[in-house]
Amino acid sequence: MTRIAIVGVAGRMGRTLVNAVQQDTEASLAGGIVEPGSSLVGVDLGELAGQGRLGVAAVDDPARIADDIDVLIDFTAPRVTLDNLAFCATHGKRMVIGTTGLSEAELAELDGYRERVPMVFAPNMSVGVNLTLQLLQTAARALGDEGYDIEVIESHHRHKVDAPSGTALKMGEVMADVLERPLKEYGVFERVGQCGPRTDKEIGFATLRAGDIVGEHTVMFATEGERVEITHKASSRMTFAKGAVRAARWVAGQSAGRYDMQDVLGLD
Ligand code: NAD
Repeated sequence: MTRIAIVGVAGRMGRTLVNAVQQDTEASLAGGIVEPGSSLVGVDLGELAGQGRLGVAAVDDPARIADDIDVLIDFTAPRVTLDNLAFCATHGKRMVIGTTGLSEAELAELDGYRERVPMVFAPNMSVGVNLTLQLLQTAARALGDEGYDIEVIESHHRHKVDAPSGTALKMGEVMADVLERPLKEYGVFERVGQCGPRTDKEIGFATLRAGDIVGEHTVMFATEGERVEITHKASSRMTFAKGAVRAARWVAGQSAGRYDMQDVLGLD
């Protein structure tokens, strides 16, 4: 049984994760962490997630439950996640990280823990998206250098704070790797005004933010005469939460290192 604590348990993903852990027969809910000083400290996690009393109360510091947990699942914000990695390094815990929007400096800081903390870090935990990443590599290999323009279009709910989504960037990165077109050089993240015609090798990104969209991504490969589109649509956060719990069970048996969902799902 993998004992899991959820950081950001009051958030959209946090509450969904409470349900996902409860549904998993090989995982148990050992704790939930809310923001320091939050009025939710002491509140029952089941009541927080709208599924009745579970007998586990929210705390505002993971150190208070250190002896009870094996893995922290963290879907919060970059700084919070990095502080929790330091906690895991000190206390010998493992971590599943779903947080997106890390800057380059923050990514380097996260990477610095790979020798000390077994961690799964993935901008998208759904099985479908991770399969889609493989399909994109195949499509990029076949079409990318044959005159097909590549554009990534993503849509999310109005509350999302980072753009483009971590998933869109990951999709861009796997294609950039195949085509040897680093996104720093070939990624186009904004087109406005007299921006001129499209160049052949650029990989374009477009972002929509509206309503309650859970997450949709389309990658378009377009040339004269035809267009191939590969689309993934998430209709419930449960798909990410179930993937995160699966990752937690998997990482519980791993030594220190930075892993992704391709490793968890054995898709490599
Ligand atoms: P949210 O704003 O609903 O939840 C974030 C929660 O973190 C909030 O409840 C906030 O109170 C809490 N928090 C902030 N500081 C904290 C601290 N110090 N300790 C404990 N909790 C703290 O956001 P969300 O929609 O749940 O998304 C959270 C993150 O997960 C975002 O970066 C988002 O992009 C990412 N996300 C990733 C995936 C994936 O599959 N990897 C899927 C969905 C969302």
